[in-house]
Amino acid sequence: IKLKIVDIPVPITIGPAFEGETIRKKDAYVEFGGGRSTSFELVRMMSADEVEDGKIELIGPDIDEMPEGSVFPIGFMIDIYGRKMQEDFEGVLERRVHYNINYGEGLWHVAQRDMCWVRISKGAKAAGFKIRDFGEILIAKYKSDYPAIVDRVQVTIVTDKDIIEEKIKIAREKYKARDARLKGLTDESVDVFYSCLLCQSFAPNHVCIVTPQRVGLCGAVSWLDAKASNEITPTGPNQPIPKGECLDEAKGMWQSMNEFVYNSSNRTLEEVNLYTLMDRPMTSCGCFEAILAILPLCNGVMITTREHSGDTPCGMTFSTLAGTCGGGVQTPGFMGIGRTYLTSSKFISADGGLGRIVWMPKDLKEYLGQDLVDAAVAAGLGADFVDKIADETVGITEDEILPFLEEKQHPALTMKPLM
Ligand code: SF4
Ligand code: ZN
Repeated sequence: IKLKIVDIPVPITIGPAFEGETIRKKDAYVEFGGGRSTSFELVRMMSADEVEDGKIELIGPDIDEMPEGSVFPIGFMIDIYGRKMQEDFEGVLERRVHYNINYGEGLWHVAQRDMCWVRISKGAKAAGFKIRDFGEILIAKYKSDYPAIVDRVQVTIVTDKDIIEEKIKIAREKYKARDARLKGLTDESVDVFYSCLLCQSFAPNHVCIVTPQRVGLCGAVSWLDAKASNEITPTGPNQPIPKGECLDEAKGMWQSMNEFVYNSSNRTLEEVNLYTLMDRPMTSCGCFEAILAILPLCNGVMITTREHSGDTPCGMTFSTLAGTCGGGVQTPGFMGIGRTYLTSSKFISADGGLGRIVWMPKDLKEYLGQDLVDAAVAAGLGADFVDKIADETVGITEDEILPFLEEKQHPALTMKPLM
């Protein structure tokens, strides 16, 4: 790996050494997002006259106006002009926000899009870090890491709690449009899947296989993003893997994927199935948007999200579950996923697909909205299937939700035994 040293005019040290640094709540001066406040990050391709190179604008309070221990909203809007820039590259560059912010000593970033979660440590505050310094880091990194496609960058950072509610609409429109472009593609209609090794800095044996119908578990790397990333950096973390011979169509196992995963996981993983969570499932790093867990009594699967802090019927909260199945190991019965994978017809298709889902937080039902209803209809489960899925208002133990599932005649109860 080639490391470029760039001079960034900020009062903290920037470098890959800080990438794995965790900032605990008690060490944080201020935090943003992560379900506690509105947050988003957005990279947009713009025309030459819309981007003033190097410009950083802060809309809202700066760190000196934020009391210690407080939570504020944050929105990062990164506008890029480049003669060789393509709209397809936006998602790839947006994912870099995560890495670039984590390079800062005393800065911490997890998740992505409108779920991102950021902390600034007390040490960084004491060193004189200001909110606009995020802009300095992002601009310097984009210009030094992507000189071929990035000619001009400007950054707007929003910490105002009213203005962010307007701006986040722009971001959500963009996310939607990006997701929609994938809709016509299926796993069968392409010849290659892509690897993603970006998270190996945190989870050294973790490999994501990204397919048209299975987004990376962070939710931020689609098949199109991985393809674009490979065009930008042919030797980078996203490599095309030709599908070749299929060993198991139902579970989704290919000889070529096995070989790739074996070689890229420091030879710790020999085989991987893409369409099941019960048998040699994909591994999980740490940045999954949601986690699946089996519920044996209900013969089904539950899902909980990073934003949902409450208890769940498997007896664990999201963070406890994350500790159980993260780190790049295969954990049958548990798996981290991107939220939109739920609406894919390849969603754990070997285990019965969407019809296996017996519990999810109310917020996730709302977030997926019509897409979830459409997926249920497409799977032959009927438009009322979503109402058969229990949530925290029904119960948070298997015993509490089982009578509800029986009353609603949830399809999982009559599927073949999960275990
Ligand atoms: Fe890539 Fe997977 Fe990490 Fe997302 S979670 S950045 S797809 S390795
Ligand atoms: Zn990850």
